[in-house]
Amino acid sequence: MINRLRLEPKELKLLRFLSCRLELPLKDENHYLNLEKGYAGELHFDRELQDLPDSCIILNDLLLENSNTHFQIDTLLITGGTIFVFEVKNYEGDYYIENERWYSLLSKTEIKNPLLQLQRSETLLRGLLKDFGFHLPIKSHLIFINPCFHLYQAPINMPAVFPPQVKRFLEKLKAVPNVAKSKNMKLAERLKARCLKENPYVRKPEYTYDQLRKGIVCGSCSAFLVPITQGFLKCEKCGSKEKMDTAVLRSVEEFAVLFPDRKITTNTIIDWCDGIGSKKVVQRILVRNYEKKGKGKSSYYQRCQREDIVNAGEEVGWITSENMGGKEKW
Ligand SMILES: [Zn+2]
Repeated sequence: MINRLRLEPKELKLLRFLSCRLELPLKDENHYLNLEKGYAGELHFDRELQDLPDSCIILNDLLLENSNTHFQIDTLLITGGTIFVFEVKNYEGDYYIENERWYSLLSKTEIKNPLLQLQRSETLLRGLLKDFGFHLPIKSHLIFINPCFHLYQAPINMPAVFPPQVKRFLEKLKAVPNVAKSKNMKLAERLKARCLKENPYVRKPEYTYDQLRKGIVCGSCSAFLVPITQGFLKCEKCGSKEKMDTAVLRSVEEFAVLFPDRKITTNTIIDWCDGIGSKKVVQRILVRNYEKKGKGKSSYYQRCQREDIVNAGEEVGWITSENMGGKEKW
């Protein structure tokens, strides 16, 4: 199986970092929790797909544009002579459909009809494939991945795979007859090349440096770490212990995501970490992991170029069964 790596969405990362250091307005907090849940669902489905045969090509998290309209595909699978589009939903609890509208049973509130989103993506993708000169059939499905989800009054012909059906659905995919991979690969390369780097519709909450709590956030929960012995920090909430170096480095990453326009300097990071870590320690960590620019008082640090590219999602490589080795696939 060939796979385009799924990266953690930038928006999710930003909101996660922000939520530890600032009380988000309820709307942003809910949006953040939905993103976390959605991403967890996508990773869950990724794990389900990992045993597909070598002839399958998977493209994760595609942000594309056709006729000046943006659309996003969670998972696109090319196998045999067919393209499968999957919209993964990690909904939990009971829902029902009435007059083609979707509702949560508990709150009786209407939710966005996920079928409309799926149909929209399929139409836009079909247009894009036509431009490329590919005429493969597209089969789209909603994938409900959470075992605690139930949908009442779903029409029998709805293009959806419900939690108890996922395994059987995957068995069917595995049985799709193999075809020459080269043509499929060409299409995958075309789609990958057309992927947009940034989602223009991401709404960033407003915040300033002064509003955010300073310190080092625990890597396992959202509490703050306190220094214990030389070179080690501890979380008083979950009990995790962490080396100063990795904890400071993680905080620098957070700073870079939250304040992409601000320069990373030793003093800035000392302040950001609320004085945890001496000047000597912070400088050593920055020198080891970042590229130093400028001299003397005006010097600052930058992420090395390659890491920048990966973080910006500009160059997302292919993972194949061969180069995966014994490592984690995702
Ligand atoms: Zn913790």
